[in-house]
Amino acid sequence: MNISLSVIVPCFNESENIDNCLKKLKENLIKITENFEIIFVDDGSIDNTFSKLFSLSKIDERIKIVKLSRNFGHQNAIYAGLQNVSGDCVFLIDADLQDPPELFPEMFKKWKDGYKVVYGVRKKRQGTLFKIIAYKLYHKIFNSLSNLKNKNDLVDFCLMDVSIVKQLLNLKEKNIYFRGLRSWIGFKQIGIEYDRIDRKVGISKYNIFNLYNLALNGILNFSSKPLTLILFSGIIIFVLSILIIIFYFFQKIFNFEFLGVIPEQVPGFYTIIIFILLFGSFNLICLGLIGEYIGRLYEESKSRPKYIIEKTFNINDKK
Ligand code: UDP
Ligand code: MG
Repeated sequence: MNISLSVIVPCFNESENIDNCLKKLKENLIKITENFEIIFVDDGSIDNTFSKLFSLSKIDERIKIVKLSRNFGHQNAIYAGLQNVSGDCVFLIDADLQDPPELFPEMFKKWKDGYKVVYGVRKKRQGTLFKIIAYKLYHKIFNSLSNLKNKNDLVDFCLMDVSIVKQLLNLKEKNIYFRGLRSWIGFKQIGIEYDRIDRKVGISKYNIFNLYNLALNGILNFSSKPLTLILFSGIIIFVLSILIIIFYFFQKIFNFEFLGVIPEQVPGFYTIIIFILLFGSFNLICLGLIGEYIGRLYEESKSRPKYIIEKTFNINDKK
């Protein structure tokens, strides 16, 4: 059987990484077959990523480019790649090679065994202590709130059967959390553990705000439990308030001392301030959370595309 492979590599200002990335991808793909395509998605780079890719695509027509009209973000760039693949199975990998292409043959073997998705599972995370703790905390929250089955440290790096790609392209939502959707699709999936190394060249394109957004998309797109929790905590606070009111009512009538306080002499200043601050901020958090859901509804209701392709190179029959 003549199997064809596709690799998607989203790139945003990765000119320093392209050569090494291409070399490593090719080295590992030919272990499986010569029949492959590598689709670099240029996500509005402002360095010379595109010119580099362009000259490479002239030499080898298996190197393909999807050039987006501006920077649409990593998750959307992945989708732009998915839309243009032609292989039987599709690898997704970052340009900085933090995930090892050396795993391709092993992933491919799993695909041959019948798995529709073979995803990478991070064994141990490197990076600053702050990032490690933040990621751990996030994954704990995500796993406890969402109903997704993959409870591992999800990463984007994976191999997908073309049927999974078709299913993913059928999903019309705009705020994408790719690894969540991939797992939501179902079918036979399996994880492969590996060590994700630090980025060697260039800097991470995810700043603290991008990460915050990705994390929020992950949680809010896959769970409405936060809304349930708001209602639940609201009910508890309401019941507590009623109990406190009843207590004060009896204290007023019978005028007894509690915690050294008799109602008539209560200055109460600090208590009131604390309650106002706590309840005020709690209200704002709840409102903000509801706002995030409404914002997403608004985004989804506008039928804008997730990305706009300016031009493609070495890709036939597609714009
Ligand atoms: N990337 C992209 N568009 C963006 C940000 C990142 O296409 O707006 C690409 C980037 O070039 C890389 C991959 O997405 O190939 C992952 O980005 P990065 O390495 O910065 O993320 P990290 O590994 O730090 O999470
Ligand atoms: Mg990276």
